[in-house]
Amino acid sequence: MAVLDSKTPTGPLPDKWRKHKADIRLVNPSNKRKYEIIVVGAGLAGASASATLAELGYIVSCFVFHDSPRRAHSIAAQGGINAAKNYPNDGDSVHRLFNDTIKGGDYRSREANVHRLAEVSADIIDQCVAQGVPFAREYGGLLANRSFGGAQVSRTFYARGQTGQQLLLGAYSALSRGIAGGGIKLHVQSEMLDLVVVDGHAKGIIVRNLVTGEITRHAADAVVLATGGYGNVFNLSTYARGSNATAIWRAYKRGACFANPCYTQIHPTCIPVTGDYQSKLTLMSESLRNDGRIWVPKKKEDRLRPPGSIPEGERDYYLERIYPSFGNLCPRDVASRAAKRVCDEGRGVGDTGLGVYLDFSDAIGRLGEAGVRERYGNLFDIYHEITDENAYQVPMRIFPAVHYTMGGLWVDYNLMSNLPGLFVLGEANFSDHGANRLGASALMQGLADGYFVLPYTIGDYLATQKPASRPSTDSPEFRQAEESVLGATKRLLSVRGAEPVSHFHKRLGHIMWQRCGMERSKAGLEAALQEIPALRAEFWANGIVPGTADSLNQSLERAFRVADFLELGELICRDALTREESCGGHFREEHQYPDGECKRDDVNFAHVAAWEFAGEGRDPVRNVEPLNYESVTMSVRNYK
Ligand SMILES: Cc1cc2nc3c(=O)[nH]c(=O)nc-3n(C[C@H](O)[C@H](O)[C@H](O)COP(=O)(O)OP(=O)(O)OC[C@H]3O[C@@H](n4cnc5c(N)ncnc54)[C@H](O)[C@@H]3O)c2cc1C
Repeated sequence: MAVLDSKTPTGPLPDKWRKHKADIRLVNPSNKRKYEIIVVGAGLAGASASATLAELGYIVSCFVFHDSPRRAHSIAAQGGINAAKNYPNDGDSVHRLFNDTIKGGDYRSREANVHRLAEVSADIIDQCVAQGVPFAREYGGLLANRSFGGAQVSRTFYARGQTGQQLLLGAYSALSRGIAGGGIKLHVQSEMLDLVVVDGHAKGIIVRNLVTGEITRHAADAVVLATGGYGNVFNLSTYARGSNATAIWRAYKRGACFANPCYTQIHPTCIPVTGDYQSKLTLMSESLRNDGRIWVPKKKEDRLRPPGSIPEGERDYYLERIYPSFGNLCPRDVASRAAKRVCDEGRGVGDTGLGVYLDFSDAIGRLGEAGVRERYGNLFDIYHEITDENAYQVPMRIFPAVHYTMGGLWVDYNLMSNLPGLFVLGEANFSDHGANRLGASALMQGLADGYFVLPYTIGDYLATQKPASRPSTDSPEFRQAEESVLGATKRLLSVRGAEPVSHFHKRLGHIMWQRCGMERSKAGLEAALQEIPALRAEFWANGIVPGTADSLNQSLERAFRVADFLELGELICRDALTREESCGGHFREEHQYPDGECKRDDVNFAHVAAWEFAGEGRDPVRNVEPLNYESVTMSVRNYK
């Protein structure tokens, strides 16, 4: 069984991080340049980590499958980034951000990590402003804030609807400085296909050059994975199409535990699915819920009636009705389930009946069209381009979609996995969001991990490793890992059936959404655990992966990723089946209160489930890290 030592520091909660930084081991400045660190990923988490590590003096090799770090999925983030600055003077504080995040995650995250996140949140904004990130400002010049779900203060900093892009440009500038200074070597179009473990420590990776097909070995003193989330296991999601699980899945198969894989976030405000041939879904940022009001007709007979002709008294602003304190700004899991319920009642709008209105008429009355355009113009443009509807004139139609994965590789307080030397950052780890992430908290976490946490904590590990002692890439472990990648490539290319990889991805997505989406049940999950292995067998028997391995071959790239999703999907369903409670985004039909809210079981499930690979064909082992709350009292979440 894996050993899960969270290494949570002792002492009062507000002092833990300060004390930890003062206590952990250091690497002396002249030794830093003797350590090489591999960072896989250059989204917000990977780029900020690479830049900061290089600035400290470490030698960094950064690998991305994209053709530029600027294409990382982080660029898609629209709404904003949280920080406890309390600029609007509306009562925010580190403690309140901490509390909201713990409660938002339905008491399934590690207390000390979340407190640290809230503490460093303000530093992130200072750092990004110093880099020139053009956050929106108030008339007096102070940075502007807006509200996001699950909070009663305004603490979200934003750059129109392009916050991720602007933050990524900041991190990319810092990364470029490291590249120019020689501290970072960037490898683009280079996909990590395996992790190399030597004497129980992560010491390297195997990489495929996506243009030439060349397979190379890379050794380091430590490996950092910042490879993003795995929501594309559902096929249709708001993720960039290329986002995948390969790096963390290979690390899992090399011994890193996978924590809470079933914790998936379904975002309530996305453009509804329109047909079978769609390849992705589009988010309409949560920031829109600051001014947009969500409703459906009270009577189901009205669901196809033009919205403008439905009088106020015949509309059901159901979030405002059910959750008067938080209204349209209740957390995502709560808002998504409420949308599902009204659609299940037959009151959903649009052709499919799977939609609710997000209506700006009140806001336009209050702020004028120009005021709304100034705040959300680019989001209205995206909506118009996709639906051909003008949301200044008719309400948007929205529906929940897969958006974020709270699960990921298990990490301790130092962001190190149970495999020594393997660190995991950003969406790829499970660390801070529990069973539900609050909006605008992912950017905060990725940048906290990269700029402010890892640069301290990695030293604690490296100080235990002799400088310049990394293994040779000729060692048997590297040879074996490379052979395993070559074998997997050959196996994929020898599949000569009839159906393209996308066919299996679509069917997997359908199983995942139906059986393990917004609502899960024992029967449904048990069925999924039969269906997914059968689909996997069909993939290997009847899939087709055209082309060769020695050149650009996007079918092969996709095949690798889908093959991994076909395994990960099973683990997700297994995790969901074993967690006999409802919490946050994990809603089990059998465990709910009469009003449909989540019924947690704190006696039996107040823990992290960290799954350990036990070998091909064997059931994985479920390890447990208990969650001990010292400062927070666990209670039933209430947004009413
Ligand atoms: C549409 C949308 C809007 C969002 N808006 C917000 C928001 O407003 N606020 C907020 O807080 N969060 C938001 N999020 C969530 C947030 O954007 C992500 O969680 C976050 O950006 C993830 O950052 P990351 O650095 O962990 O990963 P990513 O940005 O996904 O970067 C992953 C990196 O890893 C590389 N990579 C992956 N696998 C491999 C491999 N095998 N080999 C080599 N390289 C690899 C990629 O090339 C890339 O560089 C949004 C998400 C979506 C989908």
